[in-house]
Amino acid sequence: MTSITDHLATVRARVRESLERAGRASDDVTIVAVSKQQSTASIQDAYRAGQRDFGESYVQEAEPKLDALESLDVTWHFIGRIQANKTRAIAARFQWVHTVDRDKAARRLDAQRPTFAPPLNVLIQVNQGAEGQKAGVAPDDVRALAAVVRELPRLRLRGLMTIPPAGLTPQATLARFLELAQLQASLAAEGYGVDTLSMGMSGDFELALEAGSNCVRIGTAIFGGRAGSPR
Ligand SMILES: *Cc1c(COP(=O)(O)O)cnc(C)c1O
Repeated sequence: MTSITDHLATVRARVRESLERAGRASDDVTIVAVSKQQSTASIQDAYRAGQRDFGESYVQEAEPKLDALESLDVTWHFIGRIQANKTRAIAARFQWVHTVDRDKAARRLDAQRPTFAPPLNVLIQVNQGAEGQKAGVAPDDVRALAAVVRELPRLRLRGLMTIPPAGLTPQATLARFLELAQLQASLAAEGYGVDTLSMGMSGDFELALEAGSNCVRIGTAIFGGRAGSPR
């Protein structure tokens, strides 16, 4: 059986190769290990192998794990749907949120971010026209939401995030990633201090890196399969 340590080494090597192919610096990417539906023991295994950024999708599932791992120097990323009754916990316990897609969620996170903590790092999730996908703001509405987030003092807008629909050809997936990179570049040109492009998962992170991603969210390629239904 291949261990989490081995899986991580393989993912890191593949990331390095992709960056090399793209002529980018080898440290120009954050690997977020997506630990939803994984045990604290597995998270500790990855931590021992040097992994520091972890992603969780469900607040209720994440909280006991965050409690158990409180002594570790982990940066926690929230990558799931933001439910209104969970914003307080998200604002208090995570350092990053990748899935802001409406004003109301942004305002609640801002109001509930503890004053002793630094501003919460926020990415706007973009819905690039995926059929049946409800999460994310339409590309045309990204600017309006970015303008709102920029004015919220307890949030720091860092960039954009996308999840392309499964089942696209590699070319079509790459096209989505390039489109998001372009949108990010136009925000940067308009003076938004965006520096983080969160795109790429186990099945498509090499395409994402080719398109300029500097934050990949990788679950199964590190931890193996998940117990419940993947989402
Ligand atoms: C589950 C999940 C991932 C990781 O997916 P894998 O295919 O296991 O790498 C990445 N991003 C989001 C938003 C997820 O929900």
